[in-house]
Amino acid sequence: MPYSIAIDGPAGAGKSTIAKAVAKELGYVYVDTGAMYRAVGLFCLRKELPLKDQGMVSAAIRDIDISIAYDQDGAQQVFLNGENVSKEIRTEEVGNAASLVSQYQPVRDKLVSLQQKLASETSVVMDGRDIGTKVLPHADTKIYLTASVDVRAKRRTLEYASKGISADFAEIRKDVEARDYQDMHRKNSPLVQAEDAILVDSSELTIDETIDRILELAMKK
Ligand code: C5P
Repeated sequence: MPYSIAIDGPAGAGKSTIAKAVAKELGYVYVDTGAMYRAVGLFCLRKELPLKDQGMVSAAIRDIDISIAYDQDGAQQVFLNGENVSKEIRTEEVGNAASLVSQYQPVRDKLVSLQQKLASETSVVMDGRDIGTKVLPHADTKIYLTASVDVRAKRRTLEYASKGISADFAEIRKDVEARDYQDMHRKNSPLVQAEDAILVDSSELTIDETIDRILELAMKK
């Protein structure tokens, strides 16, 4: 039986960095579900669809094929109708579009079934917003990874700066707060800590400390 570790939490909590490292350490496949929602957001932006129009976005999902593959370094690549969009989806604009389109159930249904299929085939560390609650309710280990808004906004700002993308802390902080609100208050699969998830607050932890903590929790199982 494949083993699964679910890591959920708000934007900028460091989920992807941590989940990637945990997966590497355990020899599992890392599945970044946010990238899939981002690819749907990118599709809608390119088509200039009104993102707040549930009917139009839901209808468009029929024309969208999302798939993932792994490069030789084990990094997840996401494909939108056959095109590798892994780099293009990493902007605030696409993140915000993803947060809007991810509210709609037809979008979620399509991506959740892809995620569940992946986890049925191989051991995974999967990160997102609803992994422990909806996608893998029977995951072997469930983590809710968070950090204060200030810490998360600061990390995001540094991440953009390191990629040479100009980023303003105050603006990013506003974005992070807005995205938290939207993800936590939507009707379908809101971001919430699963009852059986273990809370890990990384505000005062280094990346290595957070990875060690999660490995320790996974091994205890
Ligand atoms: O994690 P990331 O910032 O890449 O996710 C982008 C957006 O996709 C989130 O703000 C959230 O609205 C949505 N998402 C989701 N469910 C997931 C993963 C991401 O609704 N499992």
